[in-house]
Amino acid sequence: MIQTFEIAVFEGDGIGPEITEPCVDILRRMADASPDYELSFTEAAAGAAHYAKTGESFPESSMATARRADAILLSAMGLPDVRYPDGTEISPQIDLRKALNLFAGVRPVTVKAGQKTPLNLPAGTEIDFVLIRESTEGLFFTQGSGEVSQDEARETLRITREVSENLFRFAFDLAKTRKAAGRGPGRVTCVDKANVFRAFAFFRELFDAEAKNHPDLIADHAYVDATALWMVQKPWSFDVMVTENMFGDILSDLGAGLMGGLGLAPSADIGLEHAVFQPCHGSAPDIAGQGVANPFAMILSAAMMLEWLGHKHDNSAMVKDGTRLRDAVEDVVARGETLTADLGGEAGTGQAAAAVLDALFVT
Ligand code: ATP
Repeated sequence: MIQTFEIAVFEGDGIGPEITEPCVDILRRMADASPDYELSFTEAAAGAAHYAKTGESFPESSMATARRADAILLSAMGLPDVRYPDGTEISPQIDLRKALNLFAGVRPVTVKAGQKTPLNLPAGTEIDFVLIRESTEGLFFTQGSGEVSQDEARETLRITREVSENLFRFAFDLAKTRKAAGRGPGRVTCVDKANVFRAFAFFRELFDAEAKNHPDLIADHAYVDATALWMVQKPWSFDVMVTENMFGDILSDLGAGLMGGLGLAPSADIGLEHAVFQPCHGSAPDIAGQGVANPFAMILSAAMMLEWLGHKHDNSAMVKDGTRLRDAVEDVVARGETLTADLGGEAGTGQAAAAVLDALFVT
């Protein structure tokens, strides 16, 4: 039976609309060509431009659309010149993460043979690992409410059993799925600082407890500082890494750097019910409206969405289409003929997206 899924689409600010349009077009064409699933898209307004126009950054109706949808596709939100009266930035994506309890920030890092990377990789070596950043607590727990006095400032790092157990279960399930798909040996690495902080010793203890439920998978640990070094020295050795919010925030930018920049870095923020898929980059106001933005990170995020929906709803055709879409982008990047300026090429957004369509349907 054909399954139908509703996708809430936040086209956002800056380059957001420019990269959302070709991405949704690709998804529509893939769904149209499939007898196994249908996608319907509902636009949801939110962000800095919407705030400037209406005085509202995240209308209740958009939150309702997000809650109702089967998945949420989001480009980028926020503009440097549009702020709340207290000077803080407009970031409805963070409101979504909190409201929908999206505890697992999934940041895949892949470098195919032939793809440009700042690393000097041994010939034929590829990188393919996933960093999972806990996204609702850790050192971000007191975000916006840290205590500051004349001589001292404090923030609180919070690790809870409930969130950590969900996080680690998610990490091991992901390693299992990857192993079944022939990606990685089925290893999960807990990245922490358990030698110095009791909170991280607690984090590690909960990790070890979950590891016992997965005798078919490998569980190991690494300190965060050593991990930063190894991500540069031997990034091919990782499979699934799971870590606290702030450590993950930092390491995921390092991961994006390994891929040659933010224009190729997709992400997903996943909870028990809901999930948001969005590129790691921001709204890039400096290049907005010029038709030169790189749409690949957005399209790779959409590929993650298809895979997630497919696994969740037992729809193998969607999982396959997600993989096909990721492969198509990776092929275009590895061939290097149709790249946008941020990757050293001359293609516009439309040409780059068209090359992905060709790789999907023509070649
Ligand atoms: P935020 O704080 O909202 O995450 P940011 O300040 O990190 O944003 P970005 O908006 O991600 O900044 O932009 C950083 C730089 O990367 C800018 O020079 C921008 O033009 C470039 N950039 C970001 N995304 C893309 C893209 N998709 N294509 C091309 N260049 C991009």
